[in-house]
Amino acid sequence: IIVVSTISGGGLIAYSEANSYNGGRGHIAHADAVASEVVPKKKKVVLLGIGWAGMSFLKNLNNPNYEVQVVSPRNFFVFTPLLPSVTCGKVEPRSIVEPVRNIISKKNIDVSYSEAECVKIDPENKKIYCRDVINTNVKGEDVFAVDYDYLIVAVGAQVNTFNTPGVYENCHFLKEVDDAQKIRKNVIQSFEKASLPNLTDEERKKILHFVVVGGGPTGVEFAAELHDFVSEDVVKLYPKVKDYVKITLLEATDHILNMFDKRITSFAEGKFGRDGIDVKLGSMVTGISDKEISTKVKGDSKSSSTPYGMVLWSTGIGPRPLIKEFMKQIGQGNRRALATDEWLRVEGFNNIYALGDCATINQRKVMEDIADIFKKGDKDKSGTLTVKEFQEILNDVCERYPQVELYMKSKQVRNIADLLKEAKGDAAKESMELNIEEFKKALTEVDTQMKNLPATAQVANQQGAYLAKCFNRMEECERNPEGPPRFRAEGRHRFHPFRYRHLGQFAPLGGEQTAAQLPGDWVSIGHSSQWLWYSVYASKQVSWRTRALVVSDWIRRFIFGRDASGI
Ligand code: FAD
Repeated sequence: IIVVSTISGGGLIAYSEANSYNGGRGHIAHADAVASEVVPKKKKVVLLGIGWAGMSFLKNLNNPNYEVQVVSPRNFFVFTPLLPSVTCGKVEPRSIVEPVRNIISKKNIDVSYSEAECVKIDPENKKIYCRDVINTNVKGEDVFAVDYDYLIVAVGAQVNTFNTPGVYENCHFLKEVDDAQKIRKNVIQSFEKASLPNLTDEERKKILHFVVVGGGPTGVEFAAELHDFVSEDVVKLYPKVKDYVKITLLEATDHILNMFDKRITSFAEGKFGRDGIDVKLGSMVTGISDKEISTKVKGDSKSSSTPYGMVLWSTGIGPRPLIKEFMKQIGQGNRRALATDEWLRVEGFNNIYALGDCATINQRKVMEDIADIFKKGDKDKSGTLTVKEFQEILNDVCERYPQVELYMKSKQVRNIADLLKEAKGDAAKESMELNIEEFKKALTEVDTQMKNLPATAQVANQQGAYLAKCFNRMEECERNPEGPPRFRAEGRHRFHPFRYRHLGQFAPLGGEQTAAQLPGDWVSIGHSSQWLWYSVYASKQVSWRTRALVVSDWIRRFIFGRDASGI
């Protein structure tokens, strides 16, 4: 033990003196007992954001050769999939957050945290500028600079209002724990308000008209939570006003839960119909005042207005101001998110990585590769391939780029996917010649679809883990620059590119029923999937502390019902 501590003590001296002698560049040995030992300066990794991507990166990073500084305006991680459960009191807000200090305290590497918001990235000088969120209110704006060797941008995204007038002023959002708490308070207050004796029926109806804009997973889950709250708790707690409650779900396209299998979409629409949730499809919101919400039905030029008590806006996400500004700075124009290569490096930078909702992998290179594979497949240059040849080429492509397989299952490319499925094992169909242009057309569709990996916790989590693994193996790979044998021939990068593994998705529909779409087109809907949902979300918790809290909240709700105290 003594020998080890002496060596590491010498190492520390060598490190700090090397810094002062050579201006922080390191690599100078100290002339004492350990003179021969060269301790390189630790590279500084600055991590922006402690959401799904940032937390996963931090949890998986175990290389002590980095000094990590986390910068994030909130000092906790939020388990976002359970935010809808917070809105109606099924789960408590504190049960789904994990303080960043808890995560750091379990790390054996050099990590520090600053509660601040990054306001500018200066890639030329390898600096970021941050605003101190704690002091801003007391001392005015307090901006400080942080240097980095590697910058990891994982700041997520913000709500997208599509510039619809009145949304910011009059709607609730469901992105942060604060939002969920505000919604919960507002829901309870609506019931209390509607129970006051001096109101007309019309007024009660208005107060208890809950409108959800956006039929994606979050909007649908909130509508389902609210309906459960009304049917299980409100009937007992507010029996006099229960009949005035109305839940409306507005969706601009033809179906809710568009990204799910058709079977799930139609089950959800049917169930909501039976539950009395008014699902209005093809209904576009044109504006929201403090009293009414205006909508236009697809194909109709006139818009109509409906009074409401509360609106939840849940229509998707857009880039944060920091990302918009950075994209402008580096010539990425008006993109939806920062474009990275398949190794998650922001295009044009070797030391800036972006992951999670704020980034999107630019699939241009992937598509060029795929086009090459197809060109090679078209051996005799006749411009045609048999279905079997196409299938073989596609298998090759899918092995390298699993995203393609995922999108071959999506609705847009289903024709070609169905054709291949039908032909499998059928010699006549397999030898059918298809024009290569057909494939190109299908590929264009795949291309459009592939540009955006879904903005989900699953993607962010996998990207964080992937990047941490790359950082863990950085030196090893620098010593062996040829990289993994599989990519050696191409010599493109020392690591495998990021590969997304889709593990399936859930859509809770209320009444202890959930729709689950699992890999391999496996669909399950009902009570059994709800139990699967409980077990998956319990197991995915980031700590035993939150796991215990969440499970005890679920049990509490089963026994005592939801907490309707409105605090
Ligand atoms: P986030 O998790 O949003 O984290 C961003 C981090 O960056 C935060 O810590 C934030 O404070 C910080 N930050 C922001 N601005 C700055 C700045 N300027 N400087 C420094 N730090 C900054 N996905 C699923 O896969 N399954 C689900 O069931 C699911 N349900 C969801 C339910 C809801 C209600 C919501 C809102 C989302 C849900 N998602 C789900 C999507 C998922 O939450 C996101 O895709 C995921 O959070 C993205 O992770 P991220 O790390 O990119 O961003």
